[in-house]
Amino acid sequence: MNFIQTRGIDENRPQSVTFSQAILAPIASFGGLYVPETLPELGEEFLTKHLNSSYKELAKDMLSRFEIDIDTDVIDEALSLYDEFDDKSNPVPVVKVKENLYISELYHGPTRAFKDMALQPFGIVLSSIAQKRNENYLILAATSGDTGPAALETFKNRANVQVACLYPDGGTSDVQRLQMVTEDAKNLKVIGINGVFDDAQNALKHLLASDSFKAALKEKDVSLSAANSVNFGRIIFQIIYHIHSYLELVRQGATAMGEKVYLNVPSGNFGNALGGYYAWKMGLPVEKIIISSNENNVLTTLIKDGKYDLRNCEVVGTTSPAMDILKSSNVERILFDLFGYKRTRELMNDLESKNAYELTKDELSTLRECFDADFCNGDEGKKYIKETFENDGYLMDPHTATCLKSYETCSNPDIKTIAYSTAEWTKFSPVIANALTGEVDAHDIDALESISKTANLEIPAMVKGLFTKEIAQDTIIEKEDIEKEILKFL
Ligand SMILES: *Cc1c(COP(=O)(O)O)cnc(C)c1O
Repeated sequence: MNFIQTRGIDENRPQSVTFSQAILAPIASFGGLYVPETLPELGEEFLTKHLNSSYKELAKDMLSRFEIDIDTDVIDEALSLYDEFDDKSNPVPVVKVKENLYISELYHGPTRAFKDMALQPFGIVLSSIAQKRNENYLILAATSGDTGPAALETFKNRANVQVACLYPDGGTSDVQRLQMVTEDAKNLKVIGINGVFDDAQNALKHLLASDSFKAALKEKDVSLSAANSVNFGRIIFQIIYHIHSYLELVRQGATAMGEKVYLNVPSGNFGNALGGYYAWKMGLPVEKIIISSNENNVLTTLIKDGKYDLRNCEVVGTTSPAMDILKSSNVERILFDLFGYKRTRELMNDLESKNAYELTKDELSTLRECFDADFCNGDEGKKYIKETFENDGYLMDPHTATCLKSYETCSNPDIKTIAYSTAEWTKFSPVIANALTGEVDAHDIDALESISKTANLEIPAMVKGLFTKEIAQDTIIEKEDIEKEILKFL
């Protein structure tokens, strides 16, 4: 299957590209994104067939329906990384939390957040394409804390790929920072920036536009790619777990095959939600997708009022920082699917030139047939963390907690909900300790130990081990020096 562009094509590009090409150079003409030409139709037959399949068997069959240009042995190797998750027989457990609310836990991989679900296999796939073409790629990542560790982990010691990862020094949790700075491999460079996440992100954008940087890369024979969720190579792996989670409900006797459910997704760049939307289009029985946000609630306004308005809007720092995003890239793929490339180009041009766009009344009602949304602030989130722990015995992180509000405000209580848990409690422990006991911990290690005692949970070895692991990456620089530092690394 080939891939086409959300904003149409110009004369200089091929009509459509292969999966490999879409992965290596994920930005299409006019700044658009690649989407599959058509989606495979799976239907109930596929679901029934996989009722007794393992996660990997399901994944393999689903990927094969996309007919992508990746060899089967590469796919097998990529999917084998799910064997390293906590439970080899089920990398994504789905847990009943209360009547009609089930939580699908996407954080059982090596870096304890949902980014591993896609980035783990993605690393193998990208590296294998690069090797096959005998090309070298640089992945540049700016991270607020989850993408960085997951990208470093997946590309560690992989051939033909180097990673430079920028993070705001002081702007991540201790666990997130340690996950990055203890990564020791020749092809990885971790750079702390004196500044906040936006500084790291802007520095990266600046670098991508710099002629001297491009010339230097060319001279070194290195091409640039991206590992964020604009890359369809990540999205494709994010369709699988939605199907798996539904099948888990059927296996647990919670739903009958064919019964519709809500998918409730804590959203930032909309990659996770997009995976659910594609699964639905491919035949998963879904009632609606509920988009949960924090105080950065642009998606709530879009889905409730049809307005995407970034004028007078600034990112605010929250207790769920992986969702502190205003330009949610993957919304574009939904616009394309619902309204076509001409309208998508028009809306995205409005967003770039006027910092805002507005859907028509008809468009809004089309969008609302698929989605509903609400947002949850930090104090409400902490209340949900505490209540759900005390009443239902379930501990969740602040990103997951945003789903509890929209579960109450957006769903029909007679219909079952699968909400997605995108991070383990160990990654955002000071917020959770504060929610549970009111304590204010400056350091993760104190919060981790306190939660471990209160909730009677073990701190996983890979998290505990971080605090005694040797620091391998100690570069902290001003943002003006990034280009020089990365060239030195290459
Ligand atoms: C990345 C991330 C999200 C947001 O996911 P999107 O696919 O960008 O919408 C939510 N929660 C956590 C913990 C994350 O790391």
